[in-house]
Amino acid sequence: MSKDIFILAKQMVGKNNPIVSALLYDFCPAAAHWYVRGVEPEEVFDVVWKAFEDYATGKDLRDVIEGYGLNTMIPEVRKYIDDIRAVRSEFSIDGPSPELTHTLQHSFNSKFGLQNQLNALGGSLEEFKHYIRVWAFLMRDWKACMKMEQKTTNERIFQLFTVSLSAPGIVQTSLRVQMPVWGWEVRVGAVKRVYLGPLVRNKRQETLRFALVNRAERAGDLKWPNNGRPDLYALDRDTGVAEPVIVRDESILRLILRWHEEAHFGRNRPVGLDDPETCRFCGYRSSCYGKLPPFHSMPRNPEILDVALEQLTGETSRERQHAISRFGKEALNA
Ligand code: SF4
Repeated sequence: MSKDIFILAKQMVGKNNPIVSALLYDFCPAAAHWYVRGVEPEEVFDVVWKAFEDYATGKDLRDVIEGYGLNTMIPEVRKYIDDIRAVRSEFSIDGPSPELTHTLQHSFNSKFGLQNQLNALGGSLEEFKHYIRVWAFLMRDWKACMKMEQKTTNERIFQLFTVSLSAPGIVQTSLRVQMPVWGWEVRVGAVKRVYLGPLVRNKRQETLRFALVNRAERAGDLKWPNNGRPDLYALDRDTGVAEPVIVRDESILRLILRWHEEAHFGRNRPVGLDDPETCRFCGYRSSCYGKLPPFHSMPRNPEILDVALEQLTGETSRERQHAISRFGKEALNA
């Protein structure tokens, strides 16, 4: 998913960095368009990322629910977890996360009086349920897919790694960028191994993102354990499936400068025209749709602002040159 890319884009706003614009271009060409014109992205909310942040504190689920002031929901949370267990046991042959396709006996019916508390977790009962599923089921599902054998959590530390991304042809150290990636450090005796797990949706593995993370160094003076490489998995944010990512061919990295240039001078079609769901996880929603209320469901296709579409597809080449010259073209010549 894209939260990591938008954390990076926010750090690099106004820097016109080719790796950042290419990552955004792969996500949505319109997002890259806004980035190279110096627009600061808004924070992207992803409830799975939020659950990761809370899980990594080492607290238990009950403590964090109480911390959000949702104590009165705890009995329903328990019932919800029991229901999912029952569905998983009855419909295990249906594949991963059968609770997504079967009706549960119990579901949260009311958030009366709890809207403010739920806002910290995405603002809706659907997001809250997803948050609970991450804690109670998906963390275990992903680890099972990755065949982590260790039994105790102190041998398996879930944490946020910072990786340093670079690509062939982008040699200046100043053009390397640092991106956060969730993962596990697993210790077996004296041997350590790192599993990195970028989030994906609908099994879609963004090719450039994975190619960059696959060759990334660890940021700062830190090294990957045993002078090796981390194992890279795509974690499906909904189903709990973790698929190994094998990057056999890094030729996509050669597209970075091409996509960077497209972001500057191309007609950057918004992905939201075909797939508004992608826009839910984009930091440039206000640029495309105007100001939306928090937790607003995405408008349907025709509602992408005419003004934004006009700029994305109809900017004259003179206007393009002018927009770019405000932020410098040095990165194009890297
Ligand atoms: S809001 Fe949608 S269309 Fe606009 S840049 Fe983001 S993903 Fe693309």
